[in-house]
Amino acid sequence: MIDIKNVSKWYGTFQVLTDCTTTIKKGEVVVVCGPSGSGKSTLIKTVNALEPFQKGDIVVDGTSISDPKTNLPKLRSRVGMVFQHFELFPHLSVTENLTLAQIKVLGRNADDAKTRGLKMLDRVGLMAHKDKFPGQLSGGQQQRVAIARALSMDPIVMLFDEPTSALDPEMVGEVLDVMVQLAHEGMTMMCVTHEMGFARKVSHRVIFMDQGKIIEDCTRDEFFGNPDARSPRAKDFLSKIL
Ligand code: ADP
Ligand code: MG
Repeated sequence: MIDIKNVSKWYGTFQVLTDCTTTIKKGEVVVVCGPSGSGKSTLIKTVNALEPFQKGDIVVDGTSISDPKTNLPKLRSRVGMVFQHFELFPHLSVTENLTLAQIKVLGRNADDAKTRGLKMLDRVGLMAHKDKFPGQLSGGQQQRVAIARALSMDPIVMLFDEPTSALDPEMVGEVLDVMVQLAHEGMTMMCVTHEMGFARKVSHRVIFMDQGKIIEDCTRDEFFGNPDARSPRAKDFLSKIL
């Protein structure tokens, strides 16, 4: 579903990604972790072409991001992305947040968009809040709306960049529950997160990054079950967060 091939990226002379290669198969849940500044956000943003890169290629569902003929807005519309900050439109109701991109980007009519959006809102357990504005919801609820909004676009893959790290601790669980449910339903997911409980429970693979490089890319069981086989950097990281 996602083929990241030898991707390197520089900001000026600073190399932020060095020769990153990995493949994410359909239905796979991959957790990306690593120290702050290691390039996790940059890598995940290259997957839906929010960040350009200078070397390598990324192929999403058969479409190459670096091919000049690729329609990037169209590709992006099929890749759901949920960030640390919820980024809902504050002046639009929950329902309007859910339908806007479906109408503008996918060209759906308002009724179809609303049906689809409310179905996804129900899925994240927030139907009762459909007419509220984002500011009337808790952080956890806003993040669940953001997930419902991404799902309304019928994504082929969902990208998450630390979706729970800006939340108060008591709200982390409700967002992780939605992500666990998605994983169990077979959604292809790439998740930057330090929630190792989530990683242990539902991930198939764990990627560990350090200084712009993928230095571990192994199964969940290898990553958590065999710490002695891990690189010193990953071991050190694990010892701090587990
Ligand atoms: P992570 O998500 O793992 O914390 P990032 O991908 O956000 O890491 O950042 C990786 C590195 O790239 C950091 O050193 C950061 O300071 C640098 N960086 C991120 N964005 C920019 C930018 N727009 N310009 C220059 N450097 C950047
Ligand atoms: Mg980041």
